[in-house]
Amino acid sequence: MTGISIDGETALYGIIGNPVKHSFSPRMQSLAFHASGINAVYLPFFIQESHLPRLLASFEVVGLRGFNITTPYKEKILSYLHTLSKEAALLQSVNTVQKTADGWKGYNTDGSGFLRSLAEAGIGVEAANVLLVGAGGAARAIGVSLALAGVSCITVFNRTRKKAEALADLIQTAMPEVETRISPESRAAYDILINTTSVGMNDGQCPVPVTLTAMCDHIVDIIYNPPKTPLLEKAAERSIPCMNGLGMLLYQGVEAFEIWTGQAAPVEVMRQSLTQAVFSENGGISD
Ligand code: NAP
Repeated sequence: MTGISIDGETALYGIIGNPVKHSFSPRMQSLAFHASGINAVYLPFFIQESHLPRLLASFEVVGLRGFNITTPYKEKILSYLHTLSKEAALLQSVNTVQKTADGWKGYNTDGSGFLRSLAEAGIGVEAANVLLVGAGGAARAIGVSLALAGVSCITVFNRTRKKAEALADLIQTAMPEVETRISPESRAAYDILINTTSVGMNDGQCPVPVTLTAMCDHIVDIIYNPPKTPLLEKAAERSIPCMNGLGMLLYQGVEAFEIWTGQAAPVEVMRQSLTQAVFSENGGISD
């Protein structure tokens, strides 16, 4: 980050979480501001839950203009915000906050960032038949965004069936025209299979039976570290086009940058920052 200058007018942005020291966002967003000629820095803030009631008043005092939110505060922040975007209101979950003339406004860029990563990879979602594996926070964001983007059917497949049913209900609320199903049918064909569970992150496991992958045109695993999970290895063995979650991580940050600054983000600078961070976390092993 050579050449970065800090002066009396440097604006402040950040990310709150617990833990937060693992986050790649401070470096990625600070580099993005610098590359765009914006006099701003972005810092990690380790926050205890007991700090939340005083947090936004403290941020106002120091003039912080916007921040990201990571685990475990994406839902807990809601009651302190003044307005919500459509996606954030549907999901009741916020990962990006901006200071506006009307107070603090919450957004959720996880789903829209995911859609941008699909578009970049040339994977169309219009009228698609999607198998969504998992029903946690990331699955909710992705499921609602896919529904709003015009997929025709989403099958939710999750270890805990009740959560799959709740996500199917949420998708129906967001977009009643989208068909929803619980559990995949054997021998069904899907345009896109998306793993949103943490299975494959550090357990060497595949989140779905291998037979289910055979009939998929595209396979996406939103895990980005390791870059190649067992699911993606299976996809590669069968020559099925696939991608990991680095694009989602990148574009959720790109969208946050664009909300805060109102200008296009320096995507390649941000991508390079993330790629380097993941590469060094893997001891220099890229796949
Ligand atoms: P979450 O809300 O805790 O949801 C976890 C999901 O994984 C649930 O569906 C859970 O099923 C399932 N799961 C966990 N362990 C399992 C197991 N042993 N067997 C079967 N299913 C299991 O977490 P999240 O925030 O959605 O994150 C999920 C994953 O997505 C993580 O790996 C995270 O790193 C990744 N992620 C990536 C990005 C990105 O930008 N690329 C963004 C967000 C998240 P149950 O409902 O049955 O518990």
